[in-house]
Amino acid sequence: MKLRKSATAVAAVAVLALTATACGGDSGTAGDKPKGGAGGKDQPKLPTYSVAKDVKSDSPTLKAATKAGKIAIGVKNDQPYLGFQDTDNKRSGFDVEIAKMVAASLGFSPSQITFKTIDSGVRETTISKGDVDLYVGTYTINPERKKQVGFAGPYFMAGADLLVRKDDKAITGPDSLKGKKVCSIVGSTPLQEIKKPKYGAKTVELSKYSECVQQLLNNEVDAVTTDDAILKGYAAQRPTKLKVVGKPFTKEPYGIGMKKDDKALQEAVSDAVEEHEKNGDYKKAYDATLGLSGSGYSAPPALERD
Ligand code: GLU
Repeated sequence: MKLRKSATAVAAVAVLALTATACGGDSGTAGDKPKGGAGGKDQPKLPTYSVAKDVKSDSPTLKAATKAGKIAIGVKNDQPYLGFQDTDNKRSGFDVEIAKMVAASLGFSPSQITFKTIDSGVRETTISKGDVDLYVGTYTINPERKKQVGFAGPYFMAGADLLVRKDDKAITGPDSLKGKKVCSIVGSTPLQEIKKPKYGAKTVELSKYSECVQQLLNNEVDAVTTDDAILKGYAAQRPTKLKVVGKPFTKEPYGIGMKKDDKALQEAVSDAVEEHEKNGDYKKAYDATLGLSGSGYSAPPALERD
């Protein structure tokens, strides 16, 4: 069982490493050549989700989407195993699967989803303007954000951690960041946390995590901070260059974002998540995406229904 899993992980890393190189978005990959063939015979299969028919709802967002026959969902495009877009524009990752399973329960097949790449710094404005109907992108539910948008969930629990170069021995956790250059992204909760004076870190604030990772590989910063689930994906892409410290220092419950006060949509999306957690789709999707990056599976957190 263990053997099968590591062969799978190597195959997945191989695919992602090739993708990143093809994008020209990375350097120094020589040590991270795939160690096995990218056969994918043992690769866990992604589930397909049955599309609900004649969905009725009082949600204004859902009514409009149903009438148009398509739903717009905001996601990330540079977070391997979570929300990633390859050179053929194909999207993959656990968040993309969550988006597809929720959409299916709301009556939309994958071809009726318009995915839009929305980075952390513009999530609240994009959702409030109605440029997306839903948002699924490592989006932490917190009271501050709840003043601007609505959430269904949580569907996953992450925690802020640190990504460092493989040979780094000085950074062992958030308490060893004094005077260190730490990169994170605008509008993210880990950036807010690491800016607290108690850490004594110098922050570099960019708009995409992949840019932070590039700076780490180029020795321009000493660490990248964000959720462990995201960082493990980058470390899995560059196992000889990067490692995750492994001492999470915040709690980041992931929610599905939507317009504030659309209670009917919130309920429909929570029902959808619950349905797929119960019928096994959630675990299957996890195993075929995030599970391949070395993030062990844990049962999803309890949904908040308010
Ligand atoms: N979960 C954190 C947040 O929502 C960090 C990841 C992200 O930026 O998407 O801010």
